Amino acid sequence: MRIKESGKHSKKRPIFKFRSAASENEDAAPSLGLASVQVGLNPRRRSLYTHLEAAIREWQMERAFQTALWLLQPEVVFILGDIFDEGKWSSPQAWADDVERFQKIFRHPHHVLLKVVAGNHDIGFHYQMSTYKIKRFEKVFNPERLFSWKGINFVMVNSVALEGDGCNLCSEAEAEIIEISHKLNCSREQEHHSSRCTDEQLLPASAPVLLQHFPLYRRSDANCSGDDAAPLEERDIPFKERYDALSREASQKLLWWLRPRLVLSGHTHSACEVLHGAGTMEISVPSFSWRNRNNPSFIMGMLTPTEYALAKCYLPYENTVLATYCVAVGFLAVLMLAHFKLLASPLLFGWNLLRKLKTT
Ligand SMILES: [Zn+2]
Repeated sequence: MRIKESGKHSKKRPIFKFRSAASENEDAAPSLGLASVQVGLNPRRRSLYTHLEAAIREWQMERAFQTALWLLQPEVVFILGDIFDEGKWSSPQAWADDVERFQKIFRHPHHVLLKVVAGNHDIGFHYQMSTYKIKRFEKVFNPERLFSWKGINFVMVNSVALEGDGCNLCSEAEAEIIEISHKLNCSREQEHHSSRCTDEQLLPASAPVLLQHFPLYRRSDANCSGDDAAPLEERDIPFKERYDALSREASQKLLWWLRPRLVLSGHTHSACEVLHGAGTMEISVPSFSWRNRNNPSFIMGMLTPTEYALAKCYLPYENTVLATYCVAVGFLAVLMLAHFKLLASPLLFGWNLLRKLKTT
């Protein structure tokens, strides 16, 4: 696992050097941000090959996640949607199987909080989304949209429901965000004792960290850079609103209503840092799975109520790991054949070949 600091972001662990004050703060919350893990098998393509492919990639995620837990000791882990590959149309049995696989791969100690937002692969795009699919997802993962940890407010929105067409699920999602906005405003105005705010609504007075699956609107990935950004030939392809990213309107509403200081999103499978409006930083977190990238990565953060420090953690390239295993297996096979005298030594083989050539 390679660690690389990114921009102003950055922890107080002996092996990593973080420069910001957040990393020096003993009360900061160490956290991890992962995206698009896409656990599960496509029920329509359950061949031996797909089983093997899924088994290798899920093994990679399990090892990477368990190593990250051990090495980085986070208190909070966020997975930014697309938890499952086929959640949008899987049968109840396939769903139960995938949930079991997810819980095995991403097992964690009780003191680590695992927070998850829904993605289009979990509940479908807007036109595929239904109350049943959302409830099924929320039965497994806590549907809590707003929570506070160590004085930091986190808002987790269902960005799939921000289509803006007034559908029932979209209206419910907007109403929830407006209610959260009201609570956050009350926390900001604590000193003013606004009559609209009651004591039980008070949250820590801290601008929130917004977590969602779809990124806020951006024209394309043209201004994105880094080892895990989109390939050069894809960066200029314009983003489709409501498909590759949220619509302009939904993005503006989230920024106005919530006034976040940091946004973490997934969906694109590639990395990007985008500065919105009045200086709100958005980090697009790349996929954590070899299914979507040869070089998956994740975000590691140290958060305080006023600051954050982020770093990028790179997983090994799939090519490198598979090539290493192939070479090791080949080497062991040769050793075993030689041990059981099933393999002529290269010298003996050369001598026999020479004798054959002489006699012909
Ligand atoms: Zn997605």
